Amino acid sequence: MPRCVLLLLFTLPLWSQSAAYDVIITGARVADGSGSPWYFADIGVRGDTIVAVGALGNAPAAARIDAHGMVVAPGFIDIHSHGRRGINAVPTAENYLREGVTTIVEGPDGSSPLPISTFLDGIRKLPISINFATFVGQGSIRQAVVGLVDRRATPEELEKMKAMAAQAMRDGAFGLSTGLFYVPGNFTPTEEVIELARVVGKLGGIHISHMREEAAHVLDSVRETIRIGEEGGLPTQITHHKTIGQPSWGRSVDSLKLVEEARARGVDVTIDQYPYTASSTGIAALVPQWALEGGQKSTSERLAAPEQRARIKAAIVQNLKVDRGAGDPKNVSIVNCQFDRTLAGKNLAQLTESRGQQATMENAAETVMDLVNKGGCSAVYHAIAEEDVVRIMRSPYTMIASDGDIPVFGQAAPHPRSYGTFARVLGVYVREKHVLTLEDAVRRMSSYPAQRLKIWDRGMLRPGMKADIIVFDPATVADRAEYDKPHQYSVGVRDVMVNGKFVLRQDKVTAERPGRVIPGPSANSASMVYTGLNSGSCGSRLPAIQRSV
Ligand SMILES: [Zn+2]
Repeated sequence: MPRCVLLLLFTLPLWSQSAAYDVIITGARVADGSGSPWYFADIGVRGDTIVAVGALGNAPAAARIDAHGMVVAPGFIDIHSHGRRGINAVPTAENYLREGVTTIVEGPDGSSPLPISTFLDGIRKLPISINFATFVGQGSIRQAVVGLVDRRATPEELEKMKAMAAQAMRDGAFGLSTGLFYVPGNFTPTEEVIELARVVGKLGGIHISHMREEAAHVLDSVRETIRIGEEGGLPTQITHHKTIGQPSWGRSVDSLKLVEEARARGVDVTIDQYPYTASSTGIAALVPQWALEGGQKSTSERLAAPEQRARIKAAIVQNLKVDRGAGDPKNVSIVNCQFDRTLAGKNLAQLTESRGQQATMENAAETVMDLVNKGGCSAVYHAIAEEDVVRIMRSPYTMIASDGDIPVFGQAAPHPRSYGTFARVLGVYVREKHVLTLEDAVRRMSSYPAQRLKIWDRGMLRPGMKADIIVFDPATVADRAEYDKPHQYSVGVRDVMVNGKFVLRQDKVTAERPGRVIPGPSANSASMVYTGLNSGSCGSRLPAIQRSV
């Protein structure tokens, strides 16, 4: 408590200075991230901080940005990003800038580089346009300690994994991601995840899960994700929530009910989602998990053994029918194959026909096995119902996240979510379909993920917050990326400011690279100022202070 008071005394004089602003954004409707209705105000920025929100009149400013007719909002925070793919090649992350994203959070789906300190140090050395944060991947920890094998961890291994999770938190992670669908996460008993979750929770982290199964057993997976939060004693999040394959369409009614019931009994469970009816992951998602144990070499050996190959094929056929294939090989199209870049953009039916075969499920399964044998590919799967997308989006517990990465413009055939997620919500689901109000959509992309991550100085337009600010035209903001023409930037986001510097100005990418690594809640001693949500007497500005120490 005394520390709170001291910090306030120290910082208030800074805020009350009346020197010139570096930037004033004037005339726009303010959607401030809270979800409250928009209002008119000018935004004054000094250094990397918002210092005023209100009528600033003719106050002196180095730059005055006219934003009449536009909406000004906090920069969007993408809580599920694979941005480490591409951040080196494209440090501007232009796809993200043009949909209003100013912070990406990496390390999802159980996968992160290790150690986290080395990973983040590498990012710190890059001159990047947007902010960068990360989770630590449970699968990556298990791979390092146990390997890619289907067995329980020994007590010694478990202790080692817990120590690694704790170290990752001290290195700056925001929590533990799991990818229980993927090798080796799929070999992990729930109890083992809970052991790691307890460690991470004590250090202020959350759990975020690519669930064990998102098709026939999606409800069991939701129960497991809730259980990890409940028994692990930490907030838990269903990431990119969806229900895959026709037999599972409509199950979001029940999954949302499970979330509702869990919250009613005090489990802090939330959801994120991308606004598309197709998912994207490796082609191995069609292969039964037992066949993937041990990695590529072991998988190829199984494919070469006739009896095992037959079992693998039968399972792939089944997945093409009722899971990610959604009943037609046309529903699966290739993003990229390292071994043959010309396959990008082709679907499984076309690939099967190009082998001189009819595009039956059985023949398409042969094509899949061939691709897997050659090292695998990434793919897009059209197997989600629009009704589920809308229902999940309307849930009060859902925030928006891309699950995308940073594509090199023109290369491969990535899922359009990398270019379009946030603009698509504003264009299609706010303006056209009226699924969300504009203010609510902004909240689900800014203050809600910030609250989830306990990033207390971003995600809102308020004095004292970091100046991550976007200006967009609500009448034209739209995604342009399509499945068969993915390399198209979103439109309508005119200006993007990160840490007080414009990285996009009048639709043009600037030379500024103000992006920072945002450290997680246990990263350094400064963060210890944050003592939990109970310290109400410190006032709402306190958290904004601790990050700037
Ligand atoms: Zn995922």
